[in-house]
Amino acid sequence: MPEIKKLLIANRGEIALRIHRACHEMGIKTVAVHSTADADAMHVRLADQAICIGPPSAADSYLNIANIISAAEISGADAIHPGYGFLSENAKFAEIVEAHGLIFVGPKPEHIRTMGDKVEAKRTAGALGLPLVPGSDGALTDSAEAKRLARDIGYPVLIKAASGGGGRGMKVVPSEDEMDTLMAQAGSEAKAAFGDATVYMEKYLGNPRHIEFQVFGDGSGNAIHLGERDCSLQRRHQKVVEEAPSPIITPEERDRMGGIVAKAMADMGYRGAGTIEFLWEDGEFYFIEMNTRLQVEHPVTEAITGLDLVREQIRVAEGHPLTLRQEDVVFRGHAIECRINAEDPKTFAPSPGLVKLYHAPGGMHVRVDSGLYAGYRVPPYYDSMIAKLIVYGTTRQGALRRLRRALEEFVVDGVKTTIPLHQALLEDPEFQQGDYTIKWLEEWLAKQA
Ligand code: ADP
Repeated sequence: MPEIKKLLIANRGEIALRIHRACHEMGIKTVAVHSTADADAMHVRLADQAICIGPPSAADSYLNIANIISAAEISGADAIHPGYGFLSENAKFAEIVEAHGLIFVGPKPEHIRTMGDKVEAKRTAGALGLPLVPGSDGALTDSAEAKRLARDIGYPVLIKAASGGGGRGMKVVPSEDEMDTLMAQAGSEAKAAFGDATVYMEKYLGNPRHIEFQVFGDGSGNAIHLGERDCSLQRRHQKVVEEAPSPIITPEERDRMGGIVAKAMADMGYRGAGTIEFLWEDGEFYFIEMNTRLQVEHPVTEAITGLDLVREQIRVAEGHPLTLRQEDVVFRGHAIECRINAEDPKTFAPSPGLVKLYHAPGGMHVRVDSGLYAGYRVPPYYDSMIAKLIVYGTTRQGALRRLRRALEEFVVDGVKTTIPLHQALLEDPEFQQGDYTIKWLEEWLAKQA
């Protein structure tokens, strides 16, 4: 079995640090690759080796495959972990990594490719027995066909881009009169954003929750699930707060649905960590997509299962079987994660700049994943998430009380952050009851304005 001795982290920010930490706990050396804007990043300082791979623009650095592969060769790394975002769901990158004799800490390239095309992903998920949102059977070509189908499904319907991401190329069509215009708009938006105008249709669910299952496979037909996360609290399709377990899923539902997703992954021969995303409405699950990588919100699953998901990823990539069988996975307590961004908490305008003071909360069951330190300058070029605060409690109410206490302690001075937003959110009775859907946060924000 190939043993990873040195791992290159093809990412930045908190996730690069997260991966570095797992590696050092496993006795694996790390190589940080960074843009010129990230020379002072915490993970660059802590890594065993650091190599600059380009200028600030991500296209020239964190997405620069040739430079990343060269850095791996120069440093003698034997594996690459892509983190999330950037190249993590790029099948071609995974193939190039493997073609260079390096271990890709991630799924098989063909599975990344299949799940990256949403039409293909839905077809595959359906064939594997996952429940789908009613809709077109594949890509839609003409609007007459779209209208016929929409009449069957019932308005409103949603037109979505096959190559979609971040909610782009998505249009809600309220009635037949607007089909021609909106379908054309979705197609041209998708073409502009992804270079692919392919669209498909789904029934538009009025007020669902976003519930996703964490899965893990060994690549040879064994797979388990690690329960669900509720990520319904979103702003512009971006997750803001995540929790595990979902306040509305019963242990029986978890076992039933988890069993279905784990079997699907086993049948597929899936390797490594993955997330199957569903919308949930009136007791029914509807598959929307699969992410073939580690998610930002993975720590809430770690908190309630006691597993280190990055360690598991590395072990599976080395060819080891999964550490646990399904019956060994025990869910305990409740975990909540707040994504803290360097943004104005009211307008959400980015607020990069110098962090003058920094004090992270601590104490029992409080985890902060962040590369921040006093004197660090948050660069303006990348995603504005600067920290994740994860708290654990034996009950959801206990976790909420701990979250309030931890947010009180958190000091980030010099840049604006969304900490006050999380503090206000915590005081809302509906949030406290876990009574929310994917529309809830935007409505709540509108009321605060
Ligand atoms: P993207 O990859 O562009 O983010 P997703 O398919 O993951 O697209 O959907 C993003 C979000 O859009 C979902 O979390 C949900 O809020 C909304 N959405 C997607 N499909 C539907 C649907 N059929 N009905 C209602 N809302 C939907």
